Amino acid sequence: MASTCSGRNNIQGHPCFGGNRHKNGRIHLAVAPRCNIQCGYCTRRHDCVNESRPGVTSRIQTPQEALETVRAVMKNDLSDIIKVVGIAGPGDPLANEETFETFRLVGEEFPQLIKCLSTNGLLLPESLDSLAELGLGSLTVTINAIDPVIAGRIYKHVLYQGKRYSGREGGELIISRQFAGVERAVELGLTVKVNSVLIPGVNEQQIGLIAERIKKSGAFVMNVMPLIPQADFAHIVPPSPEELELVCTANEKIIGQFRHCRQCRADAIGLIGQDSQGADSGCSISQLA
Ligand code: SF4
Ligand code: SF4
Ligand code: SF4
Repeated sequence: MASTCSGRNNIQGHPCFGGNRHKNGRIHLAVAPRCNIQCGYCTRRHDCVNESRPGVTSRIQTPQEALETVRAVMKNDLSDIIKVVGIAGPGDPLANEETFETFRLVGEEFPQLIKCLSTNGLLLPESLDSLAELGLGSLTVTINAIDPVIAGRIYKHVLYQGKRYSGREGGELIISRQFAGVERAVELGLTVKVNSVLIPGVNEQQIGLIAERIKKSGAFVMNVMPLIPQADFAHIVPPSPEELELVCTANEKIIGQFRHCRQCRADAIGLIGQDSQGADSGCSISQLA
C-alpha cells in the first residue's frame, strides 16, 4: 500500500487538511445536483448533509457559470486567500458529469488552485483515474458504517449501474466501494479525509471501527459530524457536543480528528468561518496522525 502522506505535498495550505485556516480559504462550486443513494438523514431539499450544511439550498451552476464564479472571485480581494476549489454537492459530485467538466475548466485557467472533492464513495473506484488525471489533490469520503446491516439502515437505497439495492445488500455494496475507493485514492497519492455522521442508536458503535479501518487504508484524517435530525432520522436526538467530544477523544488515539466542523455550504466562498455565502463555520485538526 502507498504511504499515507504521498499526496500531502500537493495540498500544502489546504485549510481543511491542516493548512492555516485564518489565511487560506476555499471556494465551493455547486455544480452537482444529483445523487445516487438515499441517506436516512437527507431530505434532498438541501445541500448534501455529508459535507454541507442544510438550511439554504445552493443555486446550481453550470460548469461554465462555475468557471465565471472562480474568475470573479480570483479578480477581487479574495484572490490572495483562495487556495482550494472544492465540489461538495449539493448532491454527490461523482454522480454528475458536470463535476469533471468543472474541474477541467477551472484547472486549465487556475492550475494553482488545489482541487478537492467530497463524495459518498459509491462511484469512487471507477472515477479515480479521471480525477487523478484532472489533478485532484484531496478527497473526502463519507463512511457511516463498516457493518453492512447497519449501513442498510442508514442508506435507504443505493442505485448502481441501473439497479436499486437496499438493506444488507445495499450496505455491502456501498461499503465495499467506499473502501476500495479510499485505498486506490491513497495509492494514487491523494490525501483522504473520511467524514462519519454520528447517529445515536444507529452507528455509534461503528465510529471507532471505521477509524481503525480507514487508518489501515491510509486515510489522513477523520471528521465525525453530529447528525442533523431530518427525514427518516428526524426523531433521533443528535449527539451533544460533550458526547461528540468523547467520541473524538477516543478516536484520536487511532487517527487525527477534525474538530468543530460546521458542515459548510456547497457554495461557501472564503475563509472558513467567514464565508461570503455559506454560514459561519470553523474547523481545526487535532493530533494529525
Ligand atoms: Fe443526501 Fe448527500 Fe446522502 Fe446524497 S449522499 S442522499 S445528497 S446526504
Ligand atoms: Fe474540500 Fe470538504 Fe474542505 Fe470543501 S469542505 S474544501 S470539499 S475538504
Ligand atoms: Fe470542511 Fe467542516 Fe472545515 Fe467546513 S468546517 S471547511 S465542512 S471541515
